[in-house]
Amino acid sequence: MDASAPSSAPPLIDPFQRRISYLRVSVTDRCDFRCVYCMSEDMTFLPKADVLSLEELDRLCSAFVRLGVRKLRLTGGEPLVRRNIMSLFRGLGRHIKSGALDELTVTTNGSQLAKYAGELREAGVRRINVSIDTLDPAKFTAITRWGKLDVVLDGLRAAREAGLTVKINAVALKGVNDDELDRMVAWCGDEGHDLTFIEVMPMGDIGPNRLDQYLPLSLVRSRLSEKWTLEESDYRTGGPARYMTVKETGGRLGFITPLTHNFCESCNRVRLTCTGTLYMCLGQDDAADLRAPLRASDSDTVLDGAIREAIARKPKGHDFIIDRRHTGPAVPRHMSVTGG
Ligand code: SAM
Ligand code: SF4
Repeated sequence: MDASAPSSAPPLIDPFQRRISYLRVSVTDRCDFRCVYCMSEDMTFLPKADVLSLEELDRLCSAFVRLGVRKLRLTGGEPLVRRNIMSLFRGLGRHIKSGALDELTVTTNGSQLAKYAGELREAGVRRINVSIDTLDPAKFTAITRWGKLDVVLDGLRAAREAGLTVKINAVALKGVNDDELDRMVAWCGDEGHDLTFIEVMPMGDIGPNRLDQYLPLSLVRSRLSEKWTLEESDYRTGGPARYMTVKETGGRLGFITPLTHNFCESCNRVRLTCTGTLYMCLGQDDAADLRAPLRASDSDTVLDGAIREAIARKPKGHDFIIDRRHTGPAVPRHMSVTGG
């Protein structure tokens, strides 16, 4: 069945009466960066044979769209390093054109944006998230281990020329970028980008102790309030960020606070890995294999049943804690598996 056809399927509702309308898909676990909070220096990636083809990813995403998902975000690893990834964006863009999907978007480190910004826009993408934790080129390379800030800034220019709206994501890192957060607010105001700060989450073994990286956003917010007038805002993007408006710049400033303020009660999303494993919560281990039902038959009946069964198991929320007694990962997988 064509997912762009009007659907009479009942919506996906979890046991806590939350409607699942947002799917995030990690299209690859690989990346051209090795950010210190996300990956260890020596990562073992999945064998290519385990990874779903782009056609299979399209079929899976389209099944979710038919079951009522209205927003799709492709992420990773770095989504734009997957070979021929634009064919997936173009394919999924048909659901934007048909009206079955409200938004097709991407979270990227920006390294390939100069190449792809125009094609993303043509495929139907309008807003993108670009992760930049610092505006200092040396620090940028230290955090990402392999990245170059000027390449990402070229990518941002290409995005602007292509007419894409950019939101910057920055992970707040103690002793690393905490002296720069003011500067980032000012820069995003000047460039016209929304900005979201994220608390570091205890996912995967990354080498260093998480407690050394963790900077509570409650502290960031009170420090920023000394310099900026932060006004409450009811702006929402369907994600977990809570937004303020920076009066002096007019820009929006979001805070994603999985540690200091748990937002699970309004969770509307599930996450698919590039092997077809569905995680119903970023911070829990329970998962459902959708690859076997996908491959079991060309009809989507078995697949739809597996998706519904998985949603019926969505847990209430995560249990992230970082303190002196909890310095290790809450879940063993890295953020790059489920895509942030
Ligand atoms: N490679 C792309 C990027 O960096 O934007 C997409 C995938 S990345 C895993 C998605 C987001 O997760 C990025 O904004 C990144 O900074 C964030 N992230 C990665 N590991 C994290 C962690 N342990 N805690 C909080 N955010 C994390
Ligand atoms: Fe790659 Fe994104 Fe993880 Fe950095 S945060 S290592 S860019 S997947």
